[in-house]
Amino acid sequence: MKSIGLIGGMSWESSTLYYQIINREVARRLGGLHSARFIMNSLDFANIAAMQRAGDWDGMTGILATAARGLEANGADCILIGTNTMHKVAPEVAAAVNVPLLHIADVTAEAIVRSGIDRVALLGTCFTMEQPFYRERLAARGIECLIPDESQRKEIHRVIFEELCRGEILDSSRRTFLQIIDELAAQGAAGVVLGCTEIPLLIGAGDTSLPVFDTTELHALAAVDFALGHAAIN
Ligand code: GLU
Repeated sequence: MKSIGLIGGMSWESSTLYYQIINREVARRLGGLHSARFIMNSLDFANIAAMQRAGDWDGMTGILATAARGLEANGADCILIGTNTMHKVAPEVAAAVNVPLLHIADVTAEAIVRSGIDRVALLGTCFTMEQPFYRERLAARGIECLIPDESQRKEIHRVIFEELCRGEILDSSRRTFLQIIDELAAQGAAGVVLGCTEIPLLIGAGDTSLPVFDTTELHALAAVDFALGHAAIN
């Protein structure tokens, strides 16, 4: 089994999801007491969030590239960045290491294409919804992203940082997110991308009639595929 390296802590609430999904899937596929070979560098999210607000993407590139090199030096055979937003600097982080970086938008695009859908609602931080780095990656696979209007984007962003990243899961926010998903479905979205690794704490596949693309789960399962060399998939 290969070793999975996660740059985590963004936020740690979603890093715990990665750890659970990866270990449960390895146990499911290999049985018995098997668990993942897994290394995490968990960053202090307050620093990262402040740099995001300041637009210091070069500074964050340096921090994530150093983290990725450290994981590689400690034996990681692949690198995951456990947040959609920080994939803005994924190309530079990938270039800093010799092992593959598994890109969260690529594995998500793969699942969307497999389902035959070509127009999705994209929910995430304002960075992810508004900037091109994420939507263009999906567009390259023929997938169009519909995003919420400006006030809805602000509210989703607020809920991510003020609630979900702090472990606060509120029914009122779930209702708001589902209302936004319904509106985007009425505009033609045939699926919804939970494009922030904490949103699965709030919304699951059972909450909406649209197919749900949970980026945390898809990313974590892609890492298991990589670690097991696709050998044990059933
Ligand atoms: N985990 C979130 C994401 O997937 C937000 C945290 C961040 O800004 O990195 O985008």
